[in-house]
Amino acid sequence: MAPAFLTDAQIDARALAHRRELGFRDERGVDFMTLMTKLKARYPSFAYERVPDGQLGEAEAQWDSRAKRLLIPEGVFAAANRGEGRALMTVAHEVGHALLGHDGTLQRAPAGNRAERLSPRIRAMEYQARRYAAAFLIPDVEAVRHMSAGEMSEHYGVSMSAAMVRKSELK
Ligand SMILES: [Zn+2]
Repeated sequence: MAPAFLTDAQIDARALAHRRELGFRDERGVDFMTLMTKLKARYPSFAYERVPDGQLGEAEAQWDSRAKRLLIPEGVFAAANRGEGRALMTVAHEVGHALLGHDGTLQRAPAGNRAERLSPRIRAMEYQARRYAAAFLIPDVEAVRHMSAGEMSEHYGVSMSAAMVRKSELK
């Protein structure tokens, strides 16, 4: 089943609503373990599992909608725990698939990869998850619109490249 069409503004609004429902204040960054704990508390069927590095192939993490399980390789788990921006974004991407109700086994892989080229449905879901992840970590609120990319990166614990993309999205 194809995902519902959402405009960028709708994706941002959903991410902000979910962020707030989970109890993250707009002006604070999302901490990885706090996020896992809050997701389990709010969605009792949600679970995450650490898997050996390499088990998911080229995928950095994976959401399985049937098992309602987020699979995180050890290396990504450790990096997210240390607060590394890229790993945090990987996890937020999978949370996007989960909370947008995407169907299937979905992963964070390079944009424009084979699955995306072959399937408009997968392309649509991946686009939504990418946008959602950035919007979840860097909420679309007035104060953020006045920040530079460097300030976004520092304040919300995301990589500089992710902050630059988000800055351009919020123009
Ligand atoms: Zn994905």
